Amino acid sequence: MKTLAEVAAQLQGYDPQALSADAVNDFLARLVEPVAGIEQAGVFEALGRVLAEDIVSPLSVPPHDNSAMDGYAFDGAQLQAGAPLTLEVVGTALAGKAWQGSVGAGQCVKIMTGAIMPAGLDTVVPQEFAQPAGEAGIRIPPNLLEPGDNRRLAGEDLMRGRPALARGARLGPAECGLIASLGLQAVAVHRRLRVAYFSTGDEILSLGEPPREGAVYDSNRYTVFGLLTRLGCEVIDMGVVRDDPSLLEAAFRDAAAKADAIITSGGVSVGEADYTRAMMKKLGDVAFWRIAMRPGRPMAVGRIGDSVLFGLPGNPVAVMVTFLAFVRPALLRLMGSTENPPPLLRARSAEAIRKKAGRTEYQRGIVESAPDGSLQVRTTGNQGSGVLSSMVRANGLIVLHHRQGNVAAGDEVDVMMFAGTL
Ligand code: AMP
Ligand code: MG
Repeated sequence: MKTLAEVAAQLQGYDPQALSADAVNDFLARLVEPVAGIEQAGVFEALGRVLAEDIVSPLSVPPHDNSAMDGYAFDGAQLQAGAPLTLEVVGTALAGKAWQGSVGAGQCVKIMTGAIMPAGLDTVVPQEFAQPAGEAGIRIPPNLLEPGDNRRLAGEDLMRGRPALARGARLGPAECGLIASLGLQAVAVHRRLRVAYFSTGDEILSLGEPPREGAVYDSNRYTVFGLLTRLGCEVIDMGVVRDDPSLLEAAFRDAAAKADAIITSGGVSVGEADYTRAMMKKLGDVAFWRIAMRPGRPMAVGRIGDSVLFGLPGNPVAVMVTFLAFVRPALLRLMGSTENPPPLLRARSAEAIRKKAGRTEYQRGIVESAPDGSLQVRTTGNQGSGVLSSMVRANGLIVLHHRQGNVAAGDEVDVMMFAGTL
């Protein structure tokens, strides 16, 4: 495990007081390593987990050449350009019940979708194109088919002995179905990441407490809980921790003992009168960053014991944005995932947006299809870092990059869609 100083030494021009969003991700990618611990998971339990070993196909899918349609199977070598083909039907092949007889020239077999192609046959005429001919025959119109049509080849999906899934893949519905298609009952996955989180601040009320002047209800624990749960983490909710050195020390020590990562909100801005920063410094190897971004800016990062610490700002939108921009990719790496972040979407801005170059802005955006079918995005209005309703109305974050300046109406902008993360 690298110390902060070791990581900082690898980075050119590292300045904790002026970090770009890219530099933050670069730093975090070097700081965190996948946690150890592998377990077997049944295919249902594997959903959302990260694969810990490469999977090589133990069998071919499909196992045999088979029909892609309900129709009649025949030897395609008999097809002649411009001429119809008349065939005698000599049997039926059902899915799960192969037809064993032999088929000669001028003959065909009625076949169902998924049924094994009888020996020597490579082409299927779909039922709806086969015209009745005589007692027990069909006529295939001219120029309808090529040899090999409507046949699925053995192993065209997955070939026995070939790589099927690489370690580091996050297992979604498609991956789980694919694993099952290989007949595998269980796979090796990384153990679930344990993440402890708490909110700090004397003005923060827990649910159930009566309102009082100057105090606000804690929303950050609920957004962080949701973001972590969507990511497939095991969550350890530690409540709201009062601004009291002994309570904070106990909370940090407890979290570090139990969790792979600790997420706190509040108390990391410069000039905070509280003890959160001081306690982080006392207990761990922690840097206090000022990030050139909006919303967000202050963030504490480091380690307490063996746990990675993410000290997020207090403002509710800043918590979500810093989570999506920095914490989520770092947690994925801790989970053993090797997936790349999804590409940003390009959309036309419906409005002019004021933006200062030299910081990254994450504006809450609503992406819609314009009448001409292109993608268009508008902001949700008030972009205050405490306006959580802006996150509710938005379906993505408009990412205005570090060097970017003002946006004119009609300009294309990048959007990080929430798809699946919120
Ligand atoms: P701080 O970063 O501690 O200065 O907090 C910045 C702002 O976020 C203040 O207005 C806090 O009241 C608010 N805030 C801090 N923590 C929470 C929380 N858990 N839930 C809702 N708002 C919070
Ligand atoms: Mg505070």
